[in-house]
Amino acid sequence: MGQLDGRVALVTGASSGLGVQFARTLAAAGARVVLGARRVERVRALAQELGDAALAVALDVTEEASTIAAYDAAEARFGTVDTIVANAGQSNAGRATELSLADLRSTVDTNFTGLFLTAREGAKRLIADGSRDHGRGRIVLIGSITAHMTGQGDSPYAASKAAVAHLGRNLAREWVRSGVNVNVIQPGYIRTEIGGDWWDGDGGKAQIAGWHRRRMMPIDTLDPMLVYFASDASRHVTGSVIDIDDGQSL
Ligand code: NDP
Repeated sequence: MGQLDGRVALVTGASSGLGVQFARTLAAAGARVVLGARRVERVRALAQELGDAALAVALDVTEEASTIAAYDAAEARFGTVDTIVANAGQSNAGRATELSLADLRSTVDTNFTGLFLTAREGAKRLIADGSRDHGRGRIVLIGSITAHMTGQGDSPYAASKAAVAHLGRNLAREWVRSGVNVNVIQPGYIRTEIGGDWWDGDGGKAQIAGWHRRRMMPIDTLDPMLVYFASDASRHVTGSVIDIDDGQSL
């Protein structure tokens, strides 16, 4: 028996990096998984890899109609989504003095508004499905350790991730009697597309050398916590914000 047998999970941003990893992990633990992203050919390929337990949907998290359509498709195939991994995110790195308004807006739209829309639509449907009685609603928001760090060149991203942490606690409070648990994972740096070629250059290498453990976290580092937050075992855990960063932010 898998820890997540019987669960229906939606992973946003499942076309790349952590989202792909999360989808594979949830499926391996027994969940049926709905894979959402704008690059639909990528989520289709992943769904094919995962077989009948997976469904690919076109999803732009910044668009409410797209979010609703993704949940509709998920429900039609598997029933109510009870496990939501709001993972889609982006970074428009650049010094604040040079950042365009369009880049600022798209960072906030994706990392904050998109995540809010994903969580809200999922919670509405869970509550309508009787989560207050069955208590199986699980929402995991993917934040970042940059929520509590300062740097040079990613201020809107960091601020949007600080907002994610606070949003998570507030949504947990709003839905505390509704059987929907909301928790936030704040990863440290992991090599994915979001970092571009930064880690290959001198700046990236110096950053890794500056961490206490002088190593990059592997992409599966978050898996055990994700499965825990998604499972019945975390019944009594809501409103948690947890760093998983190999001590990078210490
Ligand atoms: P990637 O760039 O590899 O993946 C980002 C994912 O987000 C893609 O699948 C992309 O899909 C999706 N996405 C972006 N915008 C939208 C949108 N409007 N609608 C739907 N999907 C969207 O980066 P990671 O896997 O590293 O990032 C995943 C999450 O982890 C992000 O929230 C990121 O901030 C966070 N994180 C990552 C860290 C790291 O070091 N890697 C550290 C801390 C946090 P598509 O373009 O196909 O729509």
